Order: sequence, then structure tokens, then C-alpha cells
Amino acid sequence: MKVYENISLREYNTFGIDVRARRVVVIDADEPLPVLEEPFLILGAGSDVVFTRDYPGTVLLLNPDAADVVMQPDGTVVAPAGMVLDRLIQWTLERGVYGLENLSAIPGTVGASVVQNVGAYGVEAKDVVSRVEAYDLLERRPVAFSAEECRFGYRTSLFKSQPGRWFIRRVHYRLSHTYTPNLTYRALEALPHATAAELRQSITDLRWSKLPKPEEHGSAGSFFKNPVVDEAVYRRIKSEHPDMPEAHAAEGGYKLSAGWLIDRAGWKGRTMGRAGVWPKNALVLYNTGGCTGPEVVALAEAIQHDVQQQFGITLIPEAIIV
Ligand SMILES: Cc1cc2nc3c(=O)[nH]c(=O)nc-3n(C[C@H](O)[C@H](O)[C@H](O)COP(=O)(O)OP(=O)(O)OC[C@H]3O[C@@H](n4cnc5c(N)ncnc54)[C@H](O)[C@@H]3O)c2cc1C
Repeated sequence: MKVYENISLREYNTFGIDVRARRVVVIDADEPLPVLEEPFLILGAGSDVVFTRDYPGTVLLLNPDAADVVMQPDGTVVAPAGMVLDRLIQWTLERGVYGLENLSAIPGTVGASVVQNVGAYGVEAKDVVSRVEAYDLLERRPVAFSAEECRFGYRTSLFKSQPGRWFIRRVHYRLSHTYTPNLTYRALEALPHATAAELRQSITDLRWSKLPKPEEHGSAGSFFKNPVVDEAVYRRIKSEHPDMPEAHAAEGGYKLSAGWLIDRAGWKGRTMGRAGVWPKNALVLYNTGGCTGPEVVALAEAIQHDVQQQFGITLIPEAIIV
């Protein structure tokens, strides 16, 4: 365990926001937790957080290099929470176990992938996670959850609903020794003969053609969730805007494209202060240089206001505002 006092978190969040933490404790997933008597925040790679002010307590940062990945004979892979998810995906493909390739190049750690139930290109964490080992910080004891007990939903889970209650240590993924590509996402339909490595490369390339690379422009990826509305709302907006993309039935309603709504509200490519809306993808808010958390929040609120006014729809942030 390493302890640092009063340090900048700029290198520890992909938005590149320069706030300070009173204390940062770097721990391995297996290490006993320090006694925490002040506010604390568990941080993976900081790719889904927006810091709006200095953090007054302890940031628990997971060591990305600690502990090994284990593969069981049935193809179950057990990975430490601090490991970078994309590194794990590379590891699995090198050993001939499949199922994670569509999640290639999503920034962040294994632990946070279950908090957010990350998803991309037709696959979500919930499709491959079989068990989560955690530490219950309230009852001070180790616990384990089956996939069902994780209560995964669209970019959410049990762990997101009670932040700070569980410290995720390890994630078990149910993978397969047989490669069966998931090409349900339209842009992948043309790749039926691609190997897993080629599919991974295509997805990585596609992703960075639409998103800002964290080393060039800070962001948290998609800032808002795609809103899920009932059929009457979908039909109303579709009749007023026939060019709106078809919505897919999902989560008990119809999932609309938040990016399209933001674009139509006139925000694509615009900036406010030092925060901007990514010109190639209106769902992404980014740091144009030296941006602060309150600037990101002000831009997000202006977008929410205009989308509400124009479409009667409330956009909910996917990113976590701290
Ligand atoms: C360019 C870009 C593209 C992205 N694309 C996608 C995408 O396609 N799909 C997608 O779903 N997401 C995407 N994201 C969002 C982000 O990558 C994911 O949410 C990712 O899971 C965050 O991982 P992290 O380690 O950075 O988590 P952090 O931002 O560090 O933390 C996220 C949350 O998880 C909690 N947490 C982290 N680790 C633990 C742990 N071990 N135990 C308990 N709680 C923990 C934190 O407290 C926090 O609440 C993108 C982000 C960026 C910057």
C-alpha cells in the first residue's frame, strides 16, 4: 500500500480535470483495506468520472499491475479488479478464450466494468460476468455475488446503486474456448470471416474514428445515457421528426439516440467555456484544454435544458459527477 497526501488527480481521470485529493491510497485488489474514517472514493482508471471540486477525503486507487489473471479449465477467467479491461481482453485472445472481444478498447478497469455494466458493439458486461468477489465495507466482510445478484441494467448494477458499499476485488468471466463472433451490431455485419483478433482490431478502429482519444482530448466517453421512453413518446417524437433514427425496443420501452437529440438541439461541435461537444459524436462532452468540472456540468445542464425544451425528454448522465 502506498499513501500520498494532497496530490493532483489530473493524471487519474480521463477528462484531465485538475483537482486535488486530500489523500490517495494505492492498493492491490487482495490487500486488506485501510480503516477509512473520512469520505472515500474507489477509483479505477477514472474514465467515467467528472471531478467538480477538490476531494476532501481518501481516494482508493487500485494498482493496475497487482495480482494475476487465472483461467479455469471450463474457460472461466478470474481477473483482478484493478486490471485494465482492454489488457484482459488481449490476454484472453492470446490464450484462445472468447467472449470479451466486442468490449475492446473501452477505457477503464475490470472492477468498474461491472459497476457500470459497460457495453459496446452488441455486448455488455452482464453477458459474460458470472461472479463478482467483493468486500462489504458496511459489514466489513468478504462477499460474492452471482451475475443475477449483481442486478445489471443499462449502464448500472447493484454496485452503482449503493456507491461506496462494496469494494470489488475480482471478476469472474464465463468465456468460451470456441470463437462465436457476435456481429449483431450493424457496422460489424460485414465481418463474418474475421478472426477474433481481426474483429478486435476493427472494433478498436471503429471506436477511435468516433471518439476522442483520451491522450489527445479528455472525456468520459458517452456523457449521457440513451433515454428509454414509452411507445407513445417515441411515436410522438417520430411523427414530429420523421428523420429520427428508428428506436429499438429495450429495457421495457424504446431506446432513443441521445446523440441525435443533442445534435438536433443544436449542440454538436459547440463549446461553452472550455468544455465542448465532440464534433463527430454529440453524445461525448470533452475538455478543449484546461477545463474544470463545473464547466462540464454547466455545458451538460445547458444541453439537458434544450433537449427537455425541444423534445420533452430528460437526459440522464452516464458519467459519475463527483
Ligand atoms: C473515450 C471513452 C470511451 C468510452 N466508451 C465506453 C463504451 O463504449 N461503453 C461503456 O460502457 N463505457 C464507455 N466509457 C466509460 C468508461 O470506460 C467505463 O465506464 C469504465 O468501466 C470506467 O472504468 P474506470 O476504471 O475508469 O472507472 P472509474 O471512472 O474509475 O470509476 C467508475 C465508477 O466505478 C467505481 N469503481 C471503480 N472501481 C471499483 C471497484 N473496484 N469496486 C467498487 N467500485 C469501483 C468508482 O467508484 C466509480 O463510481 C468510455 C470512456 C471513455 C473515456
